[in-house]
Amino acid sequence: MADGEVTTPADVGAETDKSPAAVEEASARRRGAGPKRGDGAEVSNLDIVRHHFELAADRLALADDVRVVFWTPYREVTVQIPVKLSDGRTHVFSGYRIQHNGARGPYKGGIRFHPEVDVDEVRALASLMTWKTAVANVPFGGAKGGVNCPGDLEPSELQEIARSFMDKIEKVLGPNRDIPAPDVNTNAQVMAWLMDEYGKLHGHTPAIVTGKPIALEGSYGREAATGRGCVYMFREAAPHLGVSPADTTFVVQGYGNVGSWAARIMQQLGARMVAVSDANGAIRSDQGIDASKLQEYLSAGGTITDFDGAEEIDPDDLVAVPCDVFIPAALGGMINEHNAERMRCKVIVEGANSPTTPAADRILRDQDVYIIPDVMANAGGVVVSYFEWAQNLQHFRWDEREVNDKLGTVMRRAYREVSGRAREEGIDLRQAAYLVGIERVVEASRTRGYI
Ligand code: NAD
Repeated sequence: MADGEVTTPADVGAETDKSPAAVEEASARRRGAGPKRGDGAEVSNLDIVRHHFELAADRLALADDVRVVFWTPYREVTVQIPVKLSDGRTHVFSGYRIQHNGARGPYKGGIRFHPEVDVDEVRALASLMTWKTAVANVPFGGAKGGVNCPGDLEPSELQEIARSFMDKIEKVLGPNRDIPAPDVNTNAQVMAWLMDEYGKLHGHTPAIVTGKPIALEGSYGREAATGRGCVYMFREAAPHLGVSPADTTFVVQGYGNVGSWAARIMQQLGARMVAVSDANGAIRSDQGIDASKLQEYLSAGGTITDFDGAEEIDPDDLVAVPCDVFIPAALGGMINEHNAERMRCKVIVEGANSPTTPAADRILRDQDVYIIPDVMANAGGVVVSYFEWAQNLQHFRWDEREVNDKLGTVMRRAYREVSGRAREEGIDLRQAAYLVGIERVVEASRTRGYI
């Protein structure tokens, strides 16, 4: 190969026009189909992460050969998971574990069980983890896993898939190699099954996964950590934006782990939730929806649209509810060129990964909406996962206050570093976060002699 010539796997795309419009158009072409995620998004998570990486790489003047190292994952594992479900038939799902970059430490990233999981989505989320762990400055690389199974399985089916997946990927995992965690449709119980299955082969190894139940060496504060981290980030930004958390109204899209914890902690600060959605629908009340009561009601099997004291609205109209803070906490691409103009918020705190497409980013910038991006806003989960891992390696436990205090320190530091960089360079937080993250990974890779 001639000097400077670059090989780029065809399947990670080769478009050179990186404008938001071109990214959305290219993606729509590639999918050859209409909307896939949520309300009208046709941009994949991979397009979104790649777009931001390329913009930052241009600003850092990264050479093309170096870019390829950071764009392509280090290792990709695809496995077959045949499972007999309650309909009596054997279903074959695909499972993925993708390790993007490990220059700064063991690979780290969640496992998602969702019918829309595919290899490109897992690639995107794995690379996002590389930049996120670097922005938070925790000693991990980036990885992600997923299984393209239905989201509404019986517990016994879920357990079978979790154990089968672990059996097939355990060779590339390890407490000093790659440490999974929860993501969409996986939780502490799923982590317990994964740990147990790994333990059958390797002996009791709590540090193999994070986000475990407290009874099985999970960390206090881990379950709430991603939502709490979002609130810490907002609290740090609030004085500069002239908003007071106690007088804030907010909307949550997706009321799972991240969304429900962010809502409950915002409410503790005195803020009022005026609309909320999950996969079953959306509700609104200008008087406020009690975040804790809604969580109890949903946990007891209630349906969001039947919750007392709120009116049902079309989920597509959630984005248009006036509020100070909008918290996307569901899937990627849900804020896109079709609905961004309708948004009536001052701040977006991205609890979800890649919720905003590049075209929506541009529209929202023109509307002066301040976006605290996923790559820093939702890092609280991996930060407390780092604490859990560190506790497990020492077989020692910190109390919840200590965990939350340490989380606050890390999130505030990340916010100040990124917002300082944004001010210095006259760019938005997302670009600044990518610059900070990429620089740290490049430095680690150069020091190790990888590039
Ligand atoms: P979860 O499975 O606990 O919750 C997901 C929620 O989204 C559920 O309430 C579901 O009903 C809702 N949802 C699904 N489709 C929807 C739709 N079309 N409209 C509205 N709501 C919809 O998952 P989670 O762990 O809370 O993850 C949510 C997001 O946060 C994901 O993007 C994930 O990658 C990201 N994230 C999670 C963590 C973590 O620690 N769990 C960390 C960082 C980022």
